[in-house]
Amino acid sequence: MASKSLFLFPSPSPTCRLFSMTSRRNVRTTEMSDEQLAAVKINRERLWKDLHSTCEWGKGERWGDGPTDIGMSRLTLSDADKQVRDWFVETTKSLGCDVNIDAMGNIFAVRPGKRGGPPTYAGSHMDTQPTGGRYDGILGVHAGIEVLKTMNDLDIKTEYDTGVINWTNEEGARFPISMVSSGVWAGAYTLEKAHNVVEVGGGKATQKSELEKIGYLGPLEASYKANPIGAHFELHIEQGPILESSGGKIGAVDGAQAYKWFTITVKGKDCHTGTTDFENRSDAMLAAAKLILHSHNKATEYGCLASTGILTLRPGSTNTVPGWVQFSLDIRSKEDAIVSKLEESLKEDFQRIASGKDIGGVNAQGTKGRGCSVEWQFDTDSPATKFHEDCIKCVEASARDMLGTNAGSQVKRMTSGAGHDSVYTSRHAPTSMIFVPCREGISHNPAEYCSPEDCGNGAQTLLGAMLRYDRLRAEKGA
Ligand SMILES: [Zn+2]
Repeated sequence: MASKSLFLFPSPSPTCRLFSMTSRRNVRTTEMSDEQLAAVKINRERLWKDLHSTCEWGKGERWGDGPTDIGMSRLTLSDADKQVRDWFVETTKSLGCDVNIDAMGNIFAVRPGKRGGPPTYAGSHMDTQPTGGRYDGILGVHAGIEVLKTMNDLDIKTEYDTGVINWTNEEGARFPISMVSSGVWAGAYTLEKAHNVVEVGGGKATQKSELEKIGYLGPLEASYKANPIGAHFELHIEQGPILESSGGKIGAVDGAQAYKWFTITVKGKDCHTGTTDFENRSDAMLAAAKLILHSHNKATEYGCLASTGILTLRPGSTNTVPGWVQFSLDIRSKEDAIVSKLEESLKEDFQRIASGKDIGGVNAQGTKGRGCSVEWQFDTDSPATKFHEDCIKCVEASARDMLGTNAGSQVKRMTSGAGHDSVYTSRHAPTSMIFVPCREGISHNPAEYCSPEDCGNGAQTLLGAMLRYDRLRAEKGA
């Protein structure tokens, strides 16, 4: 206990004293200067300890010798998920929060502010992949709770309600729609569709039956209309290598990439590999290989991404040239227009390449055959998400406060390559995310790791961003 104030204020300064020594009752964000905001510190040690204590529920594979070198296997709506949910509810209630649960089991813990209105939330998820780690999602929820604890410690009174959300089934691992519950809240899926999703692996459980079983089918309507959000901030590990490899400390996330998925079918003709010369073949596999290579080259040219993750060929015999190949194509960019531009180019080029014309060198060598046909099937369109500039600026300002003089190159604007609950909240509420580095960009893996320093940096940035946003909201009267 005696060390608490020391830990909060490791290097006391005159500004700190305003909080730590005199008139600590009800400090309002609207009365705080930028210096005072910068001086409010989370308790990094407590955050680390709390996070790993709840990782006892749903422990996965051990991957190293350290006490926390154990992965997570906390599938949504499992008994381990119930245990961590119970902890979340109990803990936030003990901090003075009102806790509400909606029909998707999303939990909203709200610390009252001075004047009503939809709360400013920190939100993320506590479910994991079957072979997941301790930081994906879990860090974001714990950081939100640490924010509330810090506000309580320092008796900070926000203008608007402030809270933490634990979203249900972000991962889509057990019930295979990811971000399904923030999706229902946003109106992207109906409640009925989400309730009826059946678990993978041949079981009969549905999301609804499991919500009922663990006692988290809440009375609140899962809807942005019935339960509006004032703003949503989500701290998350980057799940990629960019921050780590560029020496970045905090990613101020400005949105999420647009993507489109297609299934491409290449049709040629089956024939004998020994008796048919190259000139007389319609080799669908060879054509598909060239198309995939070309999608990569063209995406590089446009500064975006193209990937093939599924490939099927028929008949599948060593001595038969395959006459039928199907492959998936996933194209992504920050900008919808670039995704469309790449799609158009590839549609034109694929046809020509399959018929034997040379584009970009893919048919420059080898032997021209009889050609193949190409068919495109459209599967999914997810437009680019743009987060809210006010929220992004609050994240940047908070990160700069924390990092001090080195902040310039250590705070980076980034676009999320993966989906997150924030993509759905951003449809109906000002939203931004905070990324912190994770080792080698690894996630969805037991060895996923975010250092105590980076976890603390993320939570500290989250706190500063939420306080700043509360002040900004009051100024704007929103
Ligand atoms: Zn996540």
